[in-house]
Amino acid sequence: MPESRFAARLAAVGQHASDVGVDAVLVTPGPDLRYLVGYDAVPLERLTCLVVPAHGPASMVVPGLERLAALASPVGRLGLTLHAWGETDNPYALVASLLPDARTVAVDDHMWAQKVLALRAAMPGVEQVLGGPILAARRMRKDPDEVAALMAAGAAIDRVHERVSTWLRAGRTEREVAGDIAEAIIDEGHVRVDFIIVGSGPNGASPHHEVSDRVIEPGDIVVVDIGGTMPDGYRSDCTRTYAIGRPSSDFEDSYAVLKQAQAAAVAHARAGVTCESVDDAARSVLSDAGLGEQFIHRTGHGIGLETHEEPYIVMGNRLMLEAGMAFSIEPGFYSEGRFGARIEDIVIATEDGVVIANNTTRDLVIA
Ligand code: ZN
Ligand code: ZN
Ligand code: ZN
Repeated sequence: MPESRFAARLAAVGQHASDVGVDAVLVTPGPDLRYLVGYDAVPLERLTCLVVPAHGPASMVVPGLERLAALASPVGRLGLTLHAWGETDNPYALVASLLPDARTVAVDDHMWAQKVLALRAAMPGVEQVLGGPILAARRMRKDPDEVAALMAAGAAIDRVHERVSTWLRAGRTEREVAGDIAEAIIDEGHVRVDFIIVGSGPNGASPHHEVSDRVIEPGDIVVVDIGGTMPDGYRSDCTRTYAIGRPSSDFEDSYAVLKQAQAAAVAHARAGVTCESVDDAARSVLSDAGLGEQFIHRTGHGIGLETHEEPYIVMGNRLMLEAGMAFSIEPGFYSEGRFGARIEDIVIATEDGVVIANNTTRDLVIA
């Protein structure tokens, strides 16, 4: 990521803070920090805090023993002032001293409660608001480097799905299959496995099931939803549905409707339509076929440096999609005690449609 991108992001956050009457945005380790300055610090008890004032240059408070780690990241090339603190100093008082006139500060959504309250104690009378709206407004509009990163993540997880049917067999447990998948997620270019869902038979009816020791049986439907983090921090997330042998014709009919529903939402999504209209595009196809009650979750979520971030593709979200917004389209249907099915792709909105990061077959894969 070129340094100029980080500088532009810091400037935009400062400007946004100024526009909404916030005197500074305070950001501790997590995806917001990585987004703004490229520093992938581990959140620990000692305070690391980027201070982005509404006016003037950003600076960063860091534990003395982590100063070199911070300087080794893009932070060292951005020319930010680093305020290192020693083991017996009060870093919260240090943050307060940088903002003597502040009346309102925004804290990042992931800041630990312990740090939020310590900052409050160090800055009595200063109102704290959530930084989420300011930071998400930037992060949900992906620049071309981020779009390329998400496409690479999509291609990496596609290569894993291409291999899944070789591991899915009757007689193996979900956990054994997940072990093979975990290895492949790393082999195909991720640095971390974020989640593996292998929902066989009745376990598929729980959309956020992970894995269990259930032995896969002939005739099972298996939902495989997997994702990981690439070296640049961007995430993959893709679901395909598999069958152990030929399923019932009833299931095949329902699955064909699901495929249509997913395709309808992908075809509808573009800059200038609302998030909720994308949900409706998928939901109405399932509802018309009598499967609406079995589609028990929203159609999708944004993705980037986090697997779930804004924008959320859900009824009631009137946010207008813009070019560069990246999100999942993942309708499903779930029959308790029997099976589940889901098809999930990551897409990026453009002026006249979407680009699709996941491109393996959306047909039911007979393993
Ligand atoms: Zn999910
Ligand atoms: Zn997802
Ligand atoms: Zn998923």
